[in-house]
Amino acid sequence: MARLKVVQYPNPVLINKTQPVASVGDWERSFIIDMIETMHAESGVGLAANQVGVSKQIFVASADGVQGKELVYFNPEIIHTAGEIRDFEGCLSVREAYEPVTRFREVTLRAMNLDGKIVEVTAKGLLARIFQHEVDHLNGMVFVHRLGWWKRRMIFKKLEKNKQRF
Ligand code: ZN
Repeated sequence: MARLKVVQYPNPVLINKTQPVASVGDWERSFIIDMIETMHAESGVGLAANQVGVSKQIFVASADGVQGKELVYFNPEIIHTAGEIRDFEGCLSVREAYEPVTRFREVTLRAMNLDGKIVEVTAKGLLARIFQHEVDHLNGMVFVHRLGWWKRRMIFKKLEKNKQRF
């Protein structure tokens, strides 16, 4: 097991669309263990593979933080949505920002699970928000892209300032 380094926005790996996973093998299983360890170590509720520099359609989620109950999905897509809800959102790859984002209240995700089977999962509340946030990541979209231009501008300014410190 190894804790992975979480890349920070605007690293290009976060902006490029990720590649589908053909099947779940030893490499994928071992990578998932590292992703889960990293997510918990960073106190995150979700983590996409490109956030640790791997441009593949994989994400892990843990809405309740319970070890051993993490969700793992490959090639996820949102196939159904309902309602709207606005709530605060943060991201391990954009540490400077914690902002309200409007999301669908309920979503159905279709994805391949760890057994290589296609599953459909309907989620509400925090889990629905995590699904949307992580699918965005895998499509090369970071949550600040969903904010208004003024908020986005303020975040970019903060990022620039922090960069100059290093
Ligand atoms: Zn994120």
